[in-house]
Amino acid sequence: MSANPQVAFCDLNRIYLDQKTETDAAVARVLASGWFILGKECAAFESAMLKDLDPPQSRGGVVGCNSGTDALILPLLEHGVGPGDEVIVPSHTAIPTITAVQSTGATPVFCDIDPETWVMDTRLLRGLISASTRAIIPVHIYGNMADIPAVQRAIGDRTDIALIEDCAQAQGSRMGAAQAGTLGDFGAYSFYPTKNLGAMGDGGAVYSKHAERVERLKMLRFYGQKDRYNALVARGLNSRLDEVQAAILSVRLGKLHAGGERKASLMRRYRDELSGLPLRFQRETQGCTPNWHLAVIRLENTQTRDALMERLGSQGIQTIIHYPKPTHTQPAFSAATRARDTRLPETESLASQILSLPMYPLLTDTEQGQIIQTVRSFFK
Ligand SMILES: *Cc1c(COP(=O)(O)O)cnc(C)c1O
Repeated sequence: MSANPQVAFCDLNRIYLDQKTETDAAVARVLASGWFILGKECAAFESAMLKDLDPPQSRGGVVGCNSGTDALILPLLEHGVGPGDEVIVPSHTAIPTITAVQSTGATPVFCDIDPETWVMDTRLLRGLISASTRAIIPVHIYGNMADIPAVQRAIGDRTDIALIEDCAQAQGSRMGAAQAGTLGDFGAYSFYPTKNLGAMGDGGAVYSKHAERVERLKMLRFYGQKDRYNALVARGLNSRLDEVQAAILSVRLGKLHAGGERKASLMRRYRDELSGLPLRFQRETQGCTPNWHLAVIRLENTQTRDALMERLGSQGIQTIIHYPKPTHTQPAFSAATRARDTRLPETESLASQILSLPMYPLLTDTEQGQIIQTVRSFFK
C-alpha cells in the first residue's frame, strides 16, 4: 500500500473541512465557556440524539460516555453482569465487543454468523443460552442489523437476560421504522472518528428505553455517584462524553442520515458495476435498511483477496480487512474458548475472504469509478 494513497479509505480531514465553520465555532464556544465535563453541550447532544432516534413512547434516554467500548460496559454493569456470568457475542466483530464483556469479569460465549447476512446466526442461540447467560450482544456489523426480533424470541421470558445491541457500526440503520439500538434493552454507540457519526477523538453513548436504567447508567459513568459526594451504585467508572466532543457531535448529527443516503447510493453503484465478477456482497437482514458503515466484498478465496488488495494498493487505493483474525482466535480471549467447544466455520471462512473498499459520504464519484475500474481490470 502506498504511503500517501490517492484514494484514502476514509479521509477525516475532508469530513472536517465539509463543516469547518460550524465545527470551529462549536469548539471555540466550549473553550470560552470554561466548562469541559458534563455540562450543557453533553446534555444538548444527548437530547438531540434521543430526538433523532425517535423511539415510540419511550421514557428512556441517551447517556453520553467515553467510548463505544464503555457504551457496552456500562449496560453490562447496570444489568449486574460479572464473574461467573456468560454473555453471548458473535466472534465476527471488532475486538472491543469482546473486551467489554471480558472487562466485567463475565465470559464471552461465541456465536457463529449467518453466511449471507454476516450477523449473529440466531438459529444457534437456543443451543448457546445456558442458566448462566446474563446478556446477548448482537452486533450490527458493517451497518447491517442482526435479526433482533429473532434474538428476542430466543430470549423468551428470561428477564434476567439483557439484550444489548452493538450499534457501533450501525447508527442510523433501521429495522422497519425503528432505528438500530431502540429495539433491545440497550443500544451501544461509538463515535470513534470513522464511524457513521464520528467525533474528533473518543466518544460513545448508550440508549435505553427504561428510565430507571438510564438513571443508573448516568451514575455508573460518574464514579457511581448520583450527585457529587453521593455514591449510590457499585462498580462505577469515569466515562464521560466531554463537552468539546459533544459540541462537535451536535454539528455532525445533522448530517447522519444524509450521509446514510449518500452511502446507500455508493453501495448501489458498487453492486451494479461489480456485478458479474466472482465476488459477493453482504445481504441485508430481512426488514433492515442499513446505514452502511463499510462496503465489504467477499472473494472466492484468501489468495484472490490478498492479490486484489495488493493490486488496489499499487494503484493508490487504500483498502482494509475488517477483520482478518476472528476474535475467538485472539490470545486475549483463549480462556473463553477453552471453556467451551468453539467451532465457528462460517466466521473463519468469511474472515479469510473479505475486503473493505473505500466508502464514506465524501468519497467522490470519480474516486469510486477509479476503484471499480481497478477491480474490474483485476479480473480481466
Ligand atoms: C468501534 C467498535 C466498538 C468500540 O468503539 P470504541 O469507540 O472504539 O470504543 C465496539 N464494537 C464495534 C462493532 C465497533 O466497530
